[in-house]
Amino acid sequence: MNPLETALPVQEDLNPFHIAQEQFEHAIQYLPEYRQGLVEYLVRPERVIITEFPITTHFGDVRNFTGYRVLHNRARGPGKGGIRYHPGVTADEVRALAAWMTWKCAVMNVPFGGAKGGVVCNPKDLTKDDLRMITRRYIAELGDAIGPHTDIPAPDVNTSAETMAWVFDTYAMMHPGMNNMPVVTGKPVEMGGSYGRNEATSRGCLFCVQHALSRGLVDGLDSVDGATVAVQGFGNAGSIAALLFAEQGATIIAASDSSGAIYSASGFDPAAALARKKETGSVVGLEGTEEISNEQLLALECDILIPAALENQIRADNADQVKARLIAEAANGPTTPAADRILYAKGIPVLPDILANAGGVTVSYFEWVQNIENEQWDEDDVNAKLLTKMNSASDSVLDTQEAINGSLSDIRSTRRRNGRGDDPIEEIDLRTAAYILAVKRVADVTMKRGIWP
Ligand code: NAD
Repeated sequence: MNPLETALPVQEDLNPFHIAQEQFEHAIQYLPEYRQGLVEYLVRPERVIITEFPITTHFGDVRNFTGYRVLHNRARGPGKGGIRYHPGVTADEVRALAAWMTWKCAVMNVPFGGAKGGVVCNPKDLTKDDLRMITRRYIAELGDAIGPHTDIPAPDVNTSAETMAWVFDTYAMMHPGMNNMPVVTGKPVEMGGSYGRNEATSRGCLFCVQHALSRGLVDGLDSVDGATVAVQGFGNAGSIAALLFAEQGATIIAASDSSGAIYSASGFDPAAALARKKETGSVVGLEGTEEISNEQLLALECDILIPAALENQIRADNADQVKARLIAEAANGPTTPAADRILYAKGIPVLPDILANAGGVTVSYFEWVQNIENEQWDEDDVNAKLLTKMNSASDSVLDTQEAINGSLSDIRSTRRRNGRGDDPIEEIDLRTAAYILAVKRVADVTMKRGIWP
């Protein structure tokens, strides 16, 4: 081999939509009974809306913004997916996030399809009034593309219950005289939000990890109690995960945000890290911790690594350095396909995003049901229902992995019979198992409904 080749960085396509397609196509190899036309329908988004709109900012000048809303699939129910405010939002990122929502809702067996939205903006440069105006104008531009039974938004990166209150209010102003509560989830509890929704993504992640460990996923690690945990990203998903894992006896040894990362071998109190972030804007500088880089955080020796920031954090160029015994993806798309292959070869299981962070959409579904029935369930009830859903979905994914890996020779024969080639298909990881489960569920409903007209 040319010695220069080893020195060159590994080239990887980091376009999130290409990654979502690659994950899907990998899973489809194990479903050779599906016809090509159906496969193409399932991988493509049904609708992509791009809107350009202005607001008058707090400085009195007019600024223009680009917003997206992608509906990937609604065979199993209305579209469902968060709204992200971030300078890095692109049409392809929203396409990917919408597709992941379709598969996530199917893994969880909640009656929703997949959707996602985003506005290209940097909330750090905008006031609350600016953000309210951006939200109102964006929702007004989407018009009837969203609705309680068509496409239902929720919070994502840099949006919160307050943003969802503005979404609801704008939609309600445009549709007076109706029960508009179910048009958006993740609302404040005082106005139709569900108890437990704010913590649901992280609580679902905890339940998923606990269940997988109890089933023996990681040799010698059968509980979160006593485990060491590193958390990348300390926003809604990451900070609450740190608090909940610590409540169950885990030691939080590292955390990070967009300003940097902190580490303490003996652990720190995640509540103190959260208080510091609220006060100063970052966890960096927390007493009793040393500052490390985000790259160092990902390479720490720990039992559980929780990526809870953005996409493409564990890649071909750094996956080999990961020393965690288990990865639980609270973020969407944090691990690239090349990294997945490296981690599988290293024997590090990854609880994939479409399972591990699905607690959020599950309690969003509970919120939607409560809104339709004009009810409010208490928090214990919500958490108990979430536990049942997470355990059942985790079992289904783990069982799918076992079933597929135990029937590779049958799948190879069907592939040959159906003219799908002779490729040496290999054992699958948990992400592929989750995809196979989800694609089967969506394809099954699509075929039962029949292609319209
Ligand atoms: P958030 O805006 O509350 O928090 C994001 C955090 O990530 C912030 O602390 C930010 O500083 C940090 N961050 C950004 N870039 C970083 C970097 N390069 N390194 C380290 N930290 C960085 O967002 P959130 O709602 O917690 O979402 C985080 C992830 O979880 C996203 O992938 C999102 O799609 C996913 N998710 C969120 C929900 C939800 O209900 N909020 C549900 C499912 C999945």
